[in-house]
Amino acid sequence: MANRLYYDDAALLSFSAQVTDIREASRANGQSLWQVALDRSAFYPASGGQPHDIGVLLATSRSGAKLEAPVLEVVEDEAGEVWHFTRKPLLAGTQVEGLVDAVRRRDHMQQHSGQHLLSAAFLRECGARTVSFHLGAESSTIDLAIDALTDGQIARVERLSNEIIAQNRTVSLRTVERQEAERLLAAGVLRKLPEREGAIRMIEIADFDLNACGGTHVRATGEIGGLLIRKVEKAGKSIRVEFLCGLRAIDAARRDFETLTSASNLLSSAAARLPEAISRLQAESKSAAKEKESLLEEIARHVAAEMVSQRQQVLAEAEGPLPLITRTFPDHDLTFLKLLARNIARLSPESISLLASTQVEPAQIVLARGAAATLHCGNTLREELAALGARGGGSADMAQGAVPSASLDSLADKVRAECGHPGF
Ligand SMILES: [Zn+2]
Repeated sequence: MANRLYYDDAALLSFSAQVTDIREASRANGQSLWQVALDRSAFYPASGGQPHDIGVLLATSRSGAKLEAPVLEVVEDEAGEVWHFTRKPLLAGTQVEGLVDAVRRRDHMQQHSGQHLLSAAFLRECGARTVSFHLGAESSTIDLAIDALTDGQIARVERLSNEIIAQNRTVSLRTVERQEAERLLAAGVLRKLPEREGAIRMIEIADFDLNACGGTHVRATGEIGGLLIRKVEKAGKSIRVEFLCGLRAIDAARRDFETLTSASNLLSSAAARLPEAISRLQAESKSAAKEKESLLEEIARHVAAEMVSQRQQVLAEAEGPLPLITRTFPDHDLTFLKLLARNIARLSPESISLLASTQVEPAQIVLARGAAATLHCGNTLREELAALGARGGGSADMAQGAVPSASLDSLADKVRAECGHPGF
């Protein structure tokens, strides 16, 4: 069983060890992935919400050749053995130098220690107990056993956490016997205790928090480097708090600042006044939409009047059945076609109109009738469009559909034949 060097010194990132065991984890495309066990290791295996370390194992063969085996993943099995995943087979007995990736480890220590601090701050300020922790590649979250949090509580907890960071309080670790740990739990000093037997590893933020934990931690709170709460949302019965520590917090604040600056430039407004500027734009856009609607209605009334008047001239000159009103609009959409159709029907109760918009392809179609006409628009359009391999339908008074614009003329001829109207 490996001696876990990170237990006593999380700052130790290079070490010497001997391979004690090797096994094949998987094999794909002729390439094996190996799991190597060491007699001692500073590599942290994924556990307790904290992801595993990565790094490299350096070995020297009997012939003196150097071998570099990148460590891709580190896991702990049920028996408590730590396995290092690598593509290079390192046989039992091989002496290796282990190098843990310092940037990733520091990041994990910052997020993980920040979680201890944040959980303790939420408990103090809001009485909210942490029920779970996740350290993700982008951000970390804790779930709190509380129904809701106010903006004021969130700001106070964030402030308190950063004050403790600025005070650079010592983060110490000690090991206590199970009996002592149980006494601390009963006294309320400790919030929870892992079920396993034997000595318990305790992490203490001086005069602020005491926790049983097997993870890697900073030596003083100043190393956490700052804590930023990013999002608070309901997650089942808990409240999920997303937070970032150290350089992650700085990176996120930088990205936010750049987004705000772009938005400020676009709206020619100071960042602090953006909400006001956006509200104003929304109000303007709403009123512009209303104005557009009433202008379209007005245009539809005029165009309908002009079309009906043209038709009456044709009727005055020619004997016979009523002509079908047809027109194609390249610059108006379906909404306008419907407005126009309603206006034509109102001005000329016996009319039937077939209107098309070629603003998009396939063309949009509206077939409508006045109150005195008898053609069933929905049935007619559905049948005629089906014959053209297109779809449409609607009520007896008005129907809509879509058809390739090249078929518009033949559709008009068919509808004319259907209602017995001559061309217009
Ligand atoms: Zn911890």
